[in-house]
Amino acid sequence: MERNYPLHRLTTWKIGGPAEYVYWPAHTDELEEVLRSTRAEGIPLWVIGRGSNLLIADEGLPGIAVVTTSLDGIEWRECSVRAQAGYTLARLAQESGDRGMSGLEFARGIPGTLGGAVIMNAGAHGADMSGLILAVTVLRPDGTVVTVPRADLEFGYRHSSLRSQGVVLGAELLFSPGERVHILKQMQENLSKRKAAQPLEYPNAGSVFRNPPGDSAGRLIEAAGWKGKSVGGAEVSGKHANFILNRDQAKAVDVLTLIEIIRHDVLNKYGVELVPEIEYLAPRG
Ligand SMILES: Cc1cc2nc3c(=O)[nH]c(=O)nc-3n(C[C@H](O)[C@H](O)[C@H](O)COP(=O)(O)OP(=O)(O)OC[C@H]3O[C@@H](n4cnc5c(N)ncnc54)[C@H](O)[C@@H]3O)c2cc1C
Repeated sequence: MERNYPLHRLTTWKIGGPAEYVYWPAHTDELEEVLRSTRAEGIPLWVIGRGSNLLIADEGLPGIAVVTTSLDGIEWRECSVRAQAGYTLARLAQESGDRGMSGLEFARGIPGTLGGAVIMNAGAHGADMSGLILAVTVLRPDGTVVTVPRADLEFGYRHSSLRSQGVVLGAELLFSPGERVHILKQMQENLSKRKAAQPLEYPNAGSVFRNPPGDSAGRLIEAAGWKGKSVGGAEVSGKHANFILNRDQAKAVDVLTLIEIIRHDVLNKYGVELVPEIEYLAPRG
């Protein structure tokens, strides 16, 4: 457990003030214990994976931020895998491909954990996590651990019914048998497309807004003239307008201001309400 830990170290945006405490449980029972005691004492509990979809407030977070990245157990089977929430999604994708298991070709360049990907129903290239999930093990807010089968879960575009149901401890994924060479080639192609389209040279959190139905947030933001515009140290990428870059020690408030201005402008110009895909964590009221 670390006290007064700078959370900018735990997010891909490299933004965020200190957490009162940060804890990296190595076993799920440690996480269960933290949940029990924070609940009993009314202490705020935050869950962070690889922080690749998070904007954390400049004033930091009270209570305990639990980071799942040390929960990285894995068990491979014939054509499925059981992994803990902190396992890196990109590594899981690469290893499944190496084993000739098809299904995670879309995920090779997504920099989150398995837990974050399940909660967000992360996806790309026309596929998402919901297509592989067999079951998800969850630590409920009341302290119980349940394994929820796919049939009892709902998934949508960057959405799952697991939100606010507790902490994802792990998941079981089902693959299809495939040709190793073909799977790895597909992953390589997807990675190349990303490198060509995305501005990865400055800290960022991927797409800031969800794509509205039938359109692309990046297209709308670009059409509204926002490419290259900045507030403080935060800048709308000149390469991909749905990325906001931390160009120069950006603050969360810089990013939030840009998000609000862009939302208003796109609404005024095109009548489309952009909804953020990234999540903002801030002390509650
Ligand atoms: C360069 C770049 C490219 C990206 N490309 C894509 C893409 O193609 N497709 C896509 O969908 N996303 C993409 N993302 C966004 C991000 O990688 C995904 O949303 C990812 O699934 C988030 O996982 P994480 O572990 O980083 O979660 P975090 O950002 O740490 O957390 C995200 C949310 O999930 C919650 N959470 C995390 N772990 C758990 C858990 N175990 N139990 C309960 N709640 C949890 C957090 O509390 C938070 O609310 C990209 C990001 C970057 C930086």
